[in-house]
Amino acid sequence: MDTLTYTLVPIDPQTADALRAGGGVPYTADSVPGYPCRQCLRDAAIGEEVLLVAHDPFTMDSPYRSSSPIFIHRDPCTPDAGAGVLPEQLTCRKLSVRSFDLKAMMIDASLIDGSDLDATIRRFFDEPTSARIHVHNAVRGCWAVTVERS
Ligand SMILES: [Zn+2]
Repeated sequence: MDTLTYTLVPIDPQTADALRAGGGVPYTADSVPGYPCRQCLRDAAIGEEVLLVAHDPFTMDSPYRSSSPIFIHRDPCTPDAGAGVLPEQLTCRKLSVRSFDLKAMMIDASLIDGSDLDATIRRFFDEPTSARIHVHNAVRGCWAVTVERS
């Protein structure tokens, strides 16, 4: 894989901590994969505690704006820094990939196997008006990560 020319943007720590403080539905991971944390971008290991919470990944008003269900570790966690590759929690799943312009209007979308995520991100960012990409778990709808140009 080429060097990433884009940046994965997981849920930000302040938002994640606010969601933790607000409760959520607790689960203990009993399968891997199965409980993908959207802060550290790893699936929880068996026995780790996660919370199911609602998160709206949009940062501005948009007709597409909505909350989706996401898991986060019950305890604060951090993404693996500088791995240089896409996390397995993304590449192992069927994904819905949605490209938005600067006004948060959807300009393209695709249903893919996670193994095609890198190529799909690059293809969407070949379109100059594409400002941001949202990746969702295609089956259950969970927002997975936002992608921005580096
Ligand atoms: Zn985590």
